Amino acid sequence: MLYFVSKLITVRFSEIIGNKEIKQKLIRTANSGRISNTQLFLGAEGSGNLALAIAYAQYINCTNATNEDSCGICPSCVKYQKYIHPDLHFTFPTVTPIKTSIEILENWREAILENVYQNDYDWLSTIDKESKKQGNITAEECRDIFRRLSLKAFEAKYKVLIIWMPEYLKTEGNILLKLLEEPPVGTLILLVANDSEKILGTILSRAQLVKIPKIKDEDIIDSLINQKEIEPKNAEAISRISDGNYNLALQLIDVKHESYSKTFMDWLRECYASQKDFKKVLDRSEEFAGMGKETLKSFLDYSLQMIRATFIYKYGDRSTLRVSDEEFAFFDKFSKMMNANNIENISKAMGDAIFHIERNANVKIMVLNLSLYIGTQLKSA
Ligand SMILES: [Zn+2]
Repeated sequence: MLYFVSKLITVRFSEIIGNKEIKQKLIRTANSGRISNTQLFLGAEGSGNLALAIAYAQYINCTNATNEDSCGICPSCVKYQKYIHPDLHFTFPTVTPIKTSIEILENWREAILENVYQNDYDWLSTIDKESKKQGNITAEECRDIFRRLSLKAFEAKYKVLIIWMPEYLKTEGNILLKLLEEPPVGTLILLVANDSEKILGTILSRAQLVKIPKIKDEDIIDSLINQKEIEPKNAEAISRISDGNYNLALQLIDVKHESYSKTFMDWLRECYASQKDFKKVLDRSEEFAGMGKETLKSFLDYSLQMIRATFIYKYGDRSTLRVSDEEFAFFDKFSKMMNANNIENISKAMGDAIFHIERNANVKIMVLNLSLYIGTQLKSA
């Protein structure tokens, strides 16, 4: 409890980074009285879509809201800000043997109080320390949603259910179709997702889409400088790598960026030479495995951005590239070994590695395989 008091993290619109236009739009629709009962807040990781969904629900239920924001001090806001309002319900992925969200609601509250920009891997690793289990929204949880929503609203104008990461709803999601199509009177269902292609089509078609754009660089820089007290130069470097993903930006705060770019360049050289010098690649895999999963993931995120940037360097408008002189020189050399085909293959392999990293017990082998694969791809051009 002390934690809540000391951190004072709230989710009023004014405290969410960037996305000014979307905030104004949400406030307008709330005030127009044309509130869709089922909405999908769709935005990439780190876009703040969960924060915005909560802020929107808080705004709608605030008894003293202005045209700018919820008041933050009425009884409804006070409970919303601690995520303990009795008419605010959450559904999120869990791991076995946990069957329903309500069983670990306390952990969930703590996790989003600490970082409302977290991604599904961050969350699943907090409830599954070994990161071995697959996340899931269970059929039991779907049935529990009916139970919770059938209760009369305690005190709010709107009872709100936030379903975070409906990507984890497999066929059991069909249990919810009728509910999503026609929620009980006075009930608002907000789905908060990263990737519409991974959501059941039957669910997708029942929700009104609210598209949340990536956070702009200048907003990330501004927040890093003013809220996290990061040096302007470092804030710029972080925003460049995080590419609108504030969750990644937060993870990168403690990382030395110059060392990322050097490690990346050395690593690709070693991949290229892996047939001649296998030991170097092996040592590197060991080093990566020892980094810790979060750091490795953010490093691979950076690497993926660099590979994508190579594509732009080679085929696109170079003036749009936001890279350092050193990185530019690197592109000049390495782009000779790159073509559209191997860039796509390497990007995909890196994307897969990032995706599996949290759930993979043997990171060393995974990185070794990735390195050897990149080596073959580079040679193929
Ligand atoms: Zn209020």
